Amino acid sequence: MQFADTLLTWYADNKRALPWRGEHDPYKIWVSEIILQQTRVQQGWDYYLRFVDAFPTVAALAAASEEDVLRLWQGLGYYTRARNLHAAALQIVTRHHGAFPDNYEEIRALKGVGDYTAAAIASIAFGLPYPAVDGNVLRVTARIFGIADDIAAPQTRNAITKRCAQLIDTRHPGHFNQAMMELGAITCLPQKPKCDECPFRHECHAALHNLTDVLPVKNNRIAKRDRFFHFFLHIYNNSVILEKRTGQDIWRNLYQFPLQETPSDTTLTDGTCIAKLREVLTHQIIHANFYAIPEKSTPAVRENQLLVSLERLGDYPMPKVMVQFLKQHSI
Ligand code: SF4
Repeated sequence: MQFADTLLTWYADNKRALPWRGEHDPYKIWVSEIILQQTRVQQGWDYYLRFVDAFPTVAALAAASEEDVLRLWQGLGYYTRARNLHAAALQIVTRHHGAFPDNYEEIRALKGVGDYTAAAIASIAFGLPYPAVDGNVLRVTARIFGIADDIAAPQTRNAITKRCAQLIDTRHPGHFNQAMMELGAITCLPQKPKCDECPFRHECHAALHNLTDVLPVKNNRIAKRDRFFHFFLHIYNNSVILEKRTGQDIWRNLYQFPLQETPSDTTLTDGTCIAKLREVLTHQIIHANFYAIPEKSTPAVRENQLLVSLERLGDYPMPKVMVQFLKQHSI
């Protein structure tokens, strides 16, 4: 229990004030956890406030259209998270009569909820003793206990989860989990951890053996695929063509300018290239070229396309690189 006591004392004195801190509504905890999965706290902060303002309850989220949810998510990227939130809200309404499930198994069964998120919600909202192990917790635990196995390997994650299950304060599991994550987020940083300020500096294996540059060991360098997108702005009378993506990829149901993809880096000769942008995702790097094509008459639109005035472009949810382009050009 001494580990948990030390951690919780440190947490009480050092935790950051965050909009979801102290929240007990499982719905809001869930929303904050999903937003934070691939987003930094500073960026996620406003999105969280806007999201729970627009959809204050599971029922409100379930009643919204997917397009409304995607529009609110615009700019955060990784839109699958938003689609899953919406789908899971519908699951809660149909399977659980609108009441957020209060046990780990049923929370884990919600669309888009993995081991970590289920444990975070179960512990913070319902006081259930499940350790929530994210990247921060893997790093902190590997350093304190000198675990030199690859933290990207499932067996290491399982071993660390078991270790945390032994350490967790069963009276305050939500605080314990948040404290472990907070220690990783503000003190046990990936580079240059602030060991002088850490409550475990006298017992931490990595600090005592000068191994903070070595631990944790992580071997999963994901090879990223380069993709070359060419977007065409067919401009006529202050309007442009937008098309809805219908394929089953991460941008499904988002809108974009008509697109051509090429296998290698090239600049096409159609129109004038007015911008070159780059977006780095987990598995791919998008290289996007934008071409202006002034039209002399109303351009023909295909089934999944529509002509939209520049002022109304903001009404349509779009991939991040499109949003970036519009921002840069003050559209
Ligand atoms: S002593 Fe340093 S390396 Fe160890 S847990 Fe604390 S901040 Fe991390």
